[in-house]
Amino acid sequence: MLQQTRVETVRPRYSAFLAAFPTPAALAAAREETVLAHWSGLGYYARARRLRSGASVVAERPGGAFPRDPAAARAIPGIGPYTAAAVLSISFDLPYAVVDGNVARVLARLYCLEPPHDRPGARARMLAQALLDPAHPGDHNQAMMELGALVCLPTGPACTATGTGRGPCPVAEYCRAHAAGMTHRYPARRSRPTPVKVQARLFLLRDRKGRLLVEKNHWQFLPRLWLPVIRPETIDVPGALDVPAALPARFRVRVDSLCEAGRVEHTITNHRIRLRVFTGLVDSGPGPLPGEYLLVTDAELAGLGRSSILEKALRAEHAAAARRG
Ligand code: SF4
Repeated sequence: MLQQTRVETVRPRYSAFLAAFPTPAALAAAREETVLAHWSGLGYYARARRLRSGASVVAERPGGAFPRDPAAARAIPGIGPYTAAAVLSISFDLPYAVVDGNVARVLARLYCLEPPHDRPGARARMLAQALLDPAHPGDHNQAMMELGALVCLPTGPACTATGTGRGPCPVAEYCRAHAAGMTHRYPARRSRPTPVKVQARLFLLRDRKGRLLVEKNHWQFLPRLWLPVIRPETIDVPGALDVPAALPARFRVRVDSLCEAGRVEHTITNHRIRLRVFTGLVDSGPGPLPGEYLLVTDAELAGLGRSSILEKALRAEHAAAARRG
């Protein structure tokens, strides 16, 4: 949960998640959408899916136990070198060094590592492993991560006593970058890829009872989440594409009711997504809905998991309604 999300956001969600899924077996047995609902708002939903897949693998192992071997740990979906080393060292006191972004920064400064060695590559892992205290691997790994998080900060590392309560750094006497007065040079910056712009239209379509039409998303982003109808915007001709394409025939969008409520922006990894949000009415024919579609009240929507994109779109809808009075 902490991989891309702030501690304050995660703290209450973590407790609730563990209460809902106290064991790997419980997580493995849960439906994917139930897990996603407990993940809602944390973003990067692929993590939740991988966690559930990983739990299935662990639950099927003898005794439902997490493996003690790093290769077997890394074979679990969602477990990479960092997580494997963290779990094995912290939970089982096994001698595997962790290299996350914080540790990589400390190592880059301790040894003046030049690119490509400033990232958690083979050299950084080798150095981290060589430094590891085999008698206390879990404590050592956590100390290295904390050193990076609290003292060896990305800007303004507290190498010497600073009066901020963060310094002095306990390894300053071994640090080459500090000795050379070049902590600002390490880790060497790498250029960020140019963000990819994506345009799409999001349709908040409600039936006569005010229920929102959601579909199991088959858009390239947030796959398999329940979301309002989203369609890529490939041709920017105002009005010409305002009826969402590829809806089953039983849903009849009341074209005269469609209006643009606003625009929202959202960033997913390297993609900057701009969405035009439309509101409108939809009639649904009789009989059960196709399996990929639901008509839900706002309360039911919360149970499906509300992504940040949906939250932003609903805020645009409310703001537009307020403007109209
Ligand atoms: S001396 Fe400074 S640059 Fe070196 S590891 Fe410590 S905080 Fe980081």
